[in-house]
Amino acid sequence: EAFNAAVAGAGALNAFIVATPEKAMEAAERVDADRAAGRDLGPMAGVPIGMKDLFATEGVPTTAASHILEGFVPRYESTVSQNLWNAGAGMLGKLNLDQFAMGSSNETSHFGNVVSPWRRKDGGDTDLAPGGSSGGSSAAVAARIAAAATGTDTGGSIRQPAAFTGICGIKPTYGRCSRWGVVAFASSLDQAGPMARSVEDCAIMLGAMAGFDPKDATSLDLPVPDWEASLSDDLRGRKVGIPREYRMEGTDPEILESWERGKEWLRDAGAEIVDISLPHTKYALPAYYIIAPAEASSNLARYDGVRYGLRELPVDAAGKGAGLQDMYAATRAAGFGDEVKRRILIGTYVLSAGFYDAYYNQAQKIRTLIARDFEQAWAECDVILAPTTPTASFPLGDKTDDPLAMYLNDVFAVPASLAGLPAMSVPAMLNGDGLPLGLQLVGKPFDEQGVLDAGLAIE
Ligand code: GLN
Repeated sequence: EAFNAAVAGAGALNAFIVATPEKAMEAAERVDADRAAGRDLGPMAGVPIGMKDLFATEGVPTTAASHILEGFVPRYESTVSQNLWNAGAGMLGKLNLDQFAMGSSNETSHFGNVVSPWRRKDGGDTDLAPGGSSGGSSAAVAARIAAAATGTDTGGSIRQPAAFTGICGIKPTYGRCSRWGVVAFASSLDQAGPMARSVEDCAIMLGAMAGFDPKDATSLDLPVPDWEASLSDDLRGRKVGIPREYRMEGTDPEILESWERGKEWLRDAGAEIVDISLPHTKYALPAYYIIAPAEASSNLARYDGVRYGLRELPVDAAGKGAGLQDMYAATRAAGFGDEVKRRILIGTYVLSAGFYDAYYNQAQKIRTLIARDFEQAWAECDVILAPTTPTASFPLGDKTDDPLAMYLNDVFAVPASLAGLPAMSVPAMLNGDGLPLGLQLVGKPFDEQGVLDAGLAIE
């Protein structure tokens, strides 16, 4: 009842695509039964969470916020969501997102935009973007509807919405969380992670989500450390790198101020602050917007009107049914939104025989250079501190007609994605409009602990 009231009260946020309060209740009852029977309780026992609607959930519609997957009800459960249920968590519902996780404001969803629970101090009724693509997740956690939520991050989709809504979110090292059962966007970049109110909650939830999975060929066959148990904000002996190339034009002065404060907090926690260089940073965004659409164009080829969800069968004036190609075309024309079509077109273009060398191949080389930048930086520091985004949240509708302005939001997030590194956003301060600003911590491969510890010192 409390959940239903919360959802009704927060209905204006449009954070949920499907509500499943009965699932959260079942989990709570299981916990009661386990407790009564003296059985061990999992680390997420009874915790009501939201599930980004990109994770396949058995018997519960899974849409990726698209029309083309409407009506698709998986007969299997994603590994990450199964891990969470095994740890005792319960599902409040499937959370809204940008369609196929493509976007930075949750405005590309087929089910309408999500509204951030935040308002500008003197901004009247202006609705703000919750960030994207995990905008339902960030809004639900920030509005206290869900204790925590899953997110996925291909080029910032956990960190940017966390920053926009004043919560924490961590994208682990690529391979930590299984991609099995997660609707694929760009497979070499996609990673799941937790979004929650505190660094500690993220540590607990990531521990429950992560782990080797033979069903994902890129899954890391490494033990999952107990990040929560080792959490410490004593940073003596650790070096924090400040990448000079992240001082970019167009960055809000208040973001730069939060960065300065972040340095002080980490220094107060015992860390040594060092200047570092990541020389290829400025090429990361263009490389990302070649590689991610290229992979998306391949991944999205499976939505053909035969295997999943929507099927459009055009009939001509004489009532004659269409051929297979017509069905593909009609299904995709009706089923994919504009941003998804834009990505597919860019992706097929950069992969085409005539342009492959000029675009895709170049982008892959840049990706290697970016990864190398970070490898060299680790000789000088243990963790990197940078802003999460160049600005605070913006009004809904502000950037919908300008894809490039929207893509620029990801400028600080994509380098860590291209390099597969663990990266987290933690709330730093409120700006003059009373809106949250986030700071980003990027760590060495497999060193989620270093990221979480520095996050704890800032939180
Ligand atoms: N905003 C980025 C994009 O649109 C990142 C999305 C994501 O991480 N899923 O591609």
